[in-house]
Parts: sequence; C-alpha cells; structure tokens
Amino acid sequence: MGFLDTEREALDALLPGLDATLAGHSLAELERPGGPAVAAFREAGGAALLVPAQNTGIGADPLQAVRLQRAVGARCPSLAVATTMHHFSVASLVETAKHGAGFEWMLLEAIVGKRMLLASGFSEGRTGQSILRPTIRAERRGGDVVLNGSKKPCSLAHSMDLLTASVVMTDDSGTPRLAVAIVPADTPGLSVRPFWRSTVLAGAESDEVVLEDVTLDAQMVVLTDVGADSVLDALHISGFLWFELLMTAGYLGTASALVERVLRHGRAPATVRAELVTDVNAAMLAVEAVARTMRESQVWGEPLLVDALMARYAAQDAIARTTRTALETLGGMSFITSDEGTYLASAAAGLSFHPPSRQGMAESLCAALNGEPLHVG
Ligand SMILES: Cc1cc2nc3c(=O)[nH]c(=O)nc-3n(C[C@H](O)[C@H](O)[C@H](O)COP(=O)(O)OP(=O)(O)OC[C@H]3O[C@@H](n4cnc5c(N)ncnc54)[C@H](O)[C@@H]3O)c2cc1C
Repeated sequence: MGFLDTEREALDALLPGLDATLAGHSLAELERPGGPAVAAFREAGGAALLVPAQNTGIGADPLQAVRLQRAVGARCPSLAVATTMHHFSVASLVETAKHGAGFEWMLLEAIVGKRMLLASGFSEGRTGQSILRPTIRAERRGGDVVLNGSKKPCSLAHSMDLLTASVVMTDDSGTPRLAVAIVPADTPGLSVRPFWRSTVLAGAESDEVVLEDVTLDAQMVVLTDVGADSVLDALHISGFLWFELLMTAGYLGTASALVERVLRHGRAPATVRAELVTDVNAAMLAVEAVARTMRESQVWGEPLLVDALMARYAAQDAIARTTRTALETLGGMSFITSDEGTYLASAAAGLSFHPPSRQGMAESLCAALNGEPLHVG
C-alpha cells in the first residue's frame, strides 16, 4: 500500500473519476479563480457525499469522508477548502432534519438530484469577531424574514446554489439567538463582490456575498440553541466536528502532496523521507481516530470536539514541520524551476486561519479539560 493509496481509493470509490480528472490538470490551472475543479466535483456527484443513503445520497461515513478529503487536498487545495464548506453545510442540514418539520429532507434530496452546491457564510471579515456572533439581523415581517448584511470571505461564492448563513434572530420570548438562514443564490437582493486578493487558494472562490433586503419564507431560517454565552448545542458540536476534521484532512492532503514530491524525487535520505511520512501520517491518524469515534457512536459530545480541536492544532504543527523540511529537501533547483512546492507549502499553512483560532481557544480548551463546558469563539 503506497503513500496516499488508501485516500485515493476512498475518493475513487465514492466519487469515481474525480481524482483522474483533477490529476489531468496542472496545479496552477486548478488553483486559479474560475478553474475547472469545482465543476469537476459537481460533475462527479460530490454534492451528495454526506447526504444519507436513505435520502438518495452517498452517505459517506466520517472515516471515508476524511480520507477522501485528504486525497482532494493533495490534488487541489482550493477544492478541499471549498468542498469542506459544502459538506459542513450538508452535515448541519442532516442534523437539523433529525428534529425538523420535514422540509430539510426534501432539500437534501434536491441537493442530490440537482447536484446543488452549498456555500457557508459565518465570517463577516472582521478579525476577532466570533463566528458565533454574527451581526446580520434577521427581521421578522409577517410570515417572512428579511436579511441585510454581508458575509466575507465566503467560499463557493460564484458556484453556490444555496447560501447557508449565520444570522441573529429573536426567539418568541424576544431573546436574540443564533440562527442559520438558507438562501437560494438567485434570491433577489443577493449579490457577490470581489474580496479574496491572494493568489493562494484563489480557486476556492472566497469572495463577499452581500444580502440587501433578502426576503425569505420563515421556515428557511432555523433558530439554534446558542445564545450570548457561546455554549454549544448538539447542532454546533456536530457542525464543528465535521468542519474541523474535513478542513484538517484537506490541508494535511496538501502537505502530503509536497511530501509525495520528496518521495518521488528519490534523492532524499531515507531518514528524512521516513520522518516526513511519519509526521504527516501520524497527524492524519489523530483525525481518523476522531472520525472512527463519530462513526461508532451516535452521541457526539464536547469531549469529542475537544479531541478534534487537539487533532487539528497538532496537524497545524505537523504541516509547518513537514512543509519546511520537504521544501528544503526538494532543493534550490526545484524552487527555481517551479512554484508548485512553495505554492503547496503556502496553501497548507491556511489551516491556521480557520475558526476557532488556536490562541482564541487556549483558555477554553484548558477549562474544558478541567471539566467546564467548552466555549467556542
Ligand atoms: C481559505 C479560506 C476560506 C474561507 N472560507 C470561509 C467561508 O466559506 N465561510 C466563512 O464563514 N469563513 C471563511 N473563512 C474565514 C474564516 O472563517 C475566518 O473567519 C477568518 O479567516 C478569520 O480571520 P482572522 O484570522 O483575521 O480572525 P480571527 O480568527 O479573529 O483571529 C486572528 C488572530 O487573532 C488572534 N486571536 C483571536 N482571538 C484571540 C483570543 N481570544 N486570544 C488571543 N489571540 C486571539 C489569533 O492569533 C488569531 O489567529 C475562510 C478563511 C480562509 C483562510
């Protein structure tokens, strides 16, 4: 079993042909804005990955999903980021559907049938602002809800069919609560503006989505149990678990692509090659351990999310170590003749920039390990 074989087998089994299609393009082509990767993912049926089989989806389990996502990140870092946002939104919809009125199941089947892609807008482009405290207000007007504000960066901004966005809405007692709005991309008042200026991960389409007097049927806005204290409900624990694991696996895939180049290069000493493979695979094993627990247990609690966060932060360090050593090992001629190595190293560093930040979580993680509830944000 060669390096990344297990992951590529998972990808080929669940989304046949996608790996070969991606491998047929250069990294630069895949990573440019408007590149072919998102369309290839849609064509391969990727929208259905986490939709349960009884709702006509593929129903991948967490272990299969993280392996697949590592393989995607090894071919196209931007696609791994963008599709993590889609899968995270779908997984949250599946969780909501368990307690919902029934329209969520219809939506899930439409996602499969029409190969719809979901963007996920939680961030509002301000450093230090918790993703659990959005400023977008959802105002009730009769049977409708009206949204105003903007989400940035929002991956898949140009390819999305539906936007899921965090908003604040008052509940029946007048208390402000976090809610998730589901907005069809062609709703009047929704527009997309340029936001992402870096060339790194530009293929993820992380631009700004603007909402101006966007009017929705009230059933398209789902209230959560998260209030001002940011203590998490089951929906958020599930959402964060999927998000952290898929994001980490994707970025580990990107670092693995660089390690794979060292293995193919052939001239590196065995001690260096073994060190690189051990480091990146050990980080993936931690992700897989959490995924296996998700697969085996129906109840996902805070301790599992604490494990997922620790696996993610440990992966950030493994990525930093392996990409630095891999670049040095590939050498100056590789650096001079192609920017693929430096691109993969820069892209893999992106894991540090997704919520919740390690510094922001340090106090909360220590408190949780002391038996207190986990606060995120
Ligand atoms: C490739 C990519 C794609 C993205 N796509 C999406 C998307 O589709 N949807 C979406 O909603 N968002 C997306 N985001 C945005 C992401 O969710 C974050 O909201 C955003 O990157 C946070 O920006 P920030 O690092 O400046 O802010 P912050 O996370 O607020 O933190 C900045 C830094 O401040 C420090 N810090 C923060 N809090 C504390 C604290 N309490 N104590 C000490 N130090 C602290 C940390 O060093 C931290 O790294 C994407 C980001 C990237 C990189």
